[in-house]
Order: sequence, then C-alpha cells, then structure tokens
Amino acid sequence: MRRKLAAGNWKMNGMKASLAEIEALAKAHPDPACDLLICPPATLIAAAAEICQGTGVKIGGQTCHDRLAGAHTGDISATMLKDAGASAVILGHSERREDHEESSEDVRMLAKTAQSAGLMTVVCVGESLFQRQSTNTLDIIGAQLSLSIPDSSTGENLIVAYEPIWAIGSGLTPTKDEIGEVHDFMRARLEHRFGYGVGKSVRLLYGGSVKGSNAEEIFSISNVDGALVGGASLTAEDFGPIVSAL
Ligand code: PEP
Repeated sequence: MRRKLAAGNWKMNGMKASLAEIEALAKAHPDPACDLLICPPATLIAAAAEICQGTGVKIGGQTCHDRLAGAHTGDISATMLKDAGASAVILGHSERREDHEESSEDVRMLAKTAQSAGLMTVVCVGESLFQRQSTNTLDIIGAQLSLSIPDSSTGENLIVAYEPIWAIGSGLTPTKDEIGEVHDFMRARLEHRFGYGVGKSVRLLYGGSVKGSNAEEIFSISNVDGALVGGASLTAEDFGPIVSAL
C-alpha cells in the first residue's frame, strides 16, 4: 500500500519569517494521515529541518549537483542537503529544465547521485502545451521517464511527479481522464522496467495548479498518490486543505 504524499515546492520564495508557515503546518497536522514534505529555498533548509524535528513534516531541496563536492561555485550537493536536514530533493522540475537547460540525461545523473547520498528523489516529468496539442503526450512522458530515472531507483528512493508545464501556476488543470491516462501509463512503464513489486511501490504525484478546491477530485484518480504543489504550498492556510483531502 503506497502512503500518500503532499509535497510543497516553494521555488524561489520564502524568507526567515516564512518558517512560521512550516511551524503552523506541523502544528495543524500533528499526526498526518499522509506524508508531508516541504521544499523551501536552500537558505531555509537547515532552520526548517530543525523546526520539523519530531513532527510529521519532512524537508527537501529543490535541486542538487551531480557531484558530491568540488569546484562548483554556487551549487549545492546532495550530501550538503542531507547534512542540512533534508531527506528528499526535487529534480528535473520544468523550471530547472528550462532555466538551466537540464536535459533528462542530466536529471538522471542528479537522481543517481542524490539516491546514492540517501535522499528520496522526486523526479518531475511533463509535456508543454505545444507537445500536448501537436504530438502524443504519452510518447513525451515515456521518453522523459526512460531517460530521467536511474537504474538505482526503488520504491524507497523514487517518487515521480507528473507536471504538465501548461498547468503549472496557470490555474489550468488537465481533465481527470487526462491525468488518469498519464498516471496509468507511468505505472505500467515503471512496472515494465523495474518489475511489478518496485513499479507498484513508486509513488506518483500530480502537480499543476492543485489547490484546496480541486484536491479531492484529483486525489480520487487512479494511480495518483498525492500532489506536488507550488503556489498553494506557501502558507499553512492554503496547504492545509490539500493535506486534509489526502
Ligand atoms: C510546481 O511548480 O511544481 C507547481 C505544481 O506549481 P503550482 O502548484 O503553483 O501550479
């Protein structure tokens, strides 16, 4: 049985004062029925992890380097994330793929390194609007899955987030059938590659304009094991109803 997960991606948002939101989230959900993960900017990881010690909220990073140390100015390694108190890292978010030209092959290297450092990896895949309208979305997702996920993946160190790029921050969401089609396809691909046991145990998140008002409907779709949430994860007030819907 896969435990559901509500994960928040704060992106480049959050100052020290925002730690109060994480504290409020942990207080509001002392014994959550699902796993909770907040990925604040790197500057807040250590303080957030300290606040969340002994609570149901885990802390994660938003990316890492494919080396564990060295001359890479401005970068952060998987072991540094771990040392700061993170237990997970988001990799291959479409904003990283676009802003930093991360390819799926790059993402696979990052994920391999992060997994070797003992982090749970949340690998993101998703099609653009142009791709959805002009090609077969499942071909796009299939290729991203094959190339972005390392062979070292298991149900304990891999989560896949399906995030249609056109749904991120836009207020638009795919239909239930569209989400279900991609999630069922991803499950089948993972089972085919890693075997039934591992393929069945990897959690699949949906991400893209999830909010309190649509969370319950999205979580009712087969093979949706939770959500990766951007804007609505920034405050405990907005994230709380999503957590409660799981
Ligand atoms: C995201 O960036 O991962 C995301 C899903 O953003 P939002 O929830 O704001 O659409």
